[in-house]
Amino acid sequence: MADTTPLFDTFSRAPLRFERGEGVWLVTESGERYLDFGAGVAVTSVGHSHPHMVEALKGQAEKVWHLSNLYEVPGQETLAKRLTDATFADKVFFTNSGAEALECAIKTARRYHYTHGNPEKFRIITFEGAFHGRTLATIAAGGQPKYIEGFGPKVEGFDQVPFNDLEALKAAIVPETAALLIEPIQGEGGVRPVAPEFLRALRDLCEEHGLLLIFDEVQTGVGRTGKFFAYEWSGVTPDIMAVAKGIGGGFPFGACLATAEAASGMTAGVHGTTYGGNPLAMACGNAVLDIVLADGFLQQVRDVTLVFRQGLASLKDRYPDVIEEIRGEGLLIGVKAKVPSADLLHAIRAEHLLGVPAGDNVIRLLPPLVVTAEEAREGLARLERAAEAVTTKMAKSA
Ligand SMILES: *Cc1c(COP(=O)(O)O)cnc(C)c1O
Repeated sequence: MADTTPLFDTFSRAPLRFERGEGVWLVTESGERYLDFGAGVAVTSVGHSHPHMVEALKGQAEKVWHLSNLYEVPGQETLAKRLTDATFADKVFFTNSGAEALECAIKTARRYHYTHGNPEKFRIITFEGAFHGRTLATIAAGGQPKYIEGFGPKVEGFDQVPFNDLEALKAAIVPETAALLIEPIQGEGGVRPVAPEFLRALRDLCEEHGLLLIFDEVQTGVGRTGKFFAYEWSGVTPDIMAVAKGIGGGFPFGACLATAEAASGMTAGVHGTTYGGNPLAMACGNAVLDIVLADGFLQQVRDVTLVFRQGLASLKDRYPDVIEEIRGEGLLIGVKAKVPSADLLHAIRAEHLLGVPAGDNVIRLLPPLVVTAEEAREGLARLERAAEAVTTKMAKSA
């Protein structure tokens, strides 16, 4: 296959071909059902083929698909109003992806200093283990050598410090520093949470040095952690925030949110996008918010989180040779494996349960936010059978 496919060889794909999805389930071409706790990497936030999403997309498709930003797009105004009403932000720029939301965040921070008489301030401090996307600037921001290697000179202006290390961070702040960029919980890095007091210290450092604080909530946002955005758990607000994944419910789009002050350098003509904020995307984004911001929805996410938390704690106790640690917040769950995480991922897939790999020998469970307690228990039962299978296999090879 690999040497005959017309596709780039950039992905190592599991040999599964899904034909349709229903809620938390994916169904293969041959009719096999898989419990989807990967959600397309935290994207299908309200599950597959949610009737409200289908209706919103179809309804918009019958009116107009695309306009460009040469004209006013009412769906953008509605969605931006709802996002700013529900967050720290005053202004929104819509993009097509998470990486582009980060690009906008980085440009917004640099422009802010440029237009405030500090053009020398362009450097951004990031954290080891971070992931911010795959564009040339965001691989430099993420700092992972495996993503940077072979792509020419690393984009200038990103300084990386160890995770949760305040002294190293302080030492890295120089007169050229413009902003600090962090995921409130590292997703791809292995579901590594940032301590709330660390986030508070970042905020204080930003005040002290005149820096902007940028949160990357591409993975943690839109209800994933049981709050609309993860920063609400700490009470620390950023100046700029990148959002994507769950906001579209499967329609690809993202957003860069900012305070009016932080966005003040982004004046007419300095940034742009052809597709960003397209009516189809906005219809989907507004439909996702109809569901996620409905009374009681986030409480339900927090309630089902408890089912996972208790079940996973019990599994960790009973399979200490397979599961080392449970991490995360809400439905951004990290299972740190004691065995190679690829083995555990393989074992859960054999039980028709889908997860997502992550760094630090972790597998991520990111069920759609609409997952019920019963579906959570079904997932836990499958994870248990997988842990049992891994244990049996280890005993045989010992
Ligand atoms: C997925 C992700 C991105 C990149 O988003 P794309 O839509 O793939 O460009 C950036 N930051 C974080 C935290 C992510 O999880």
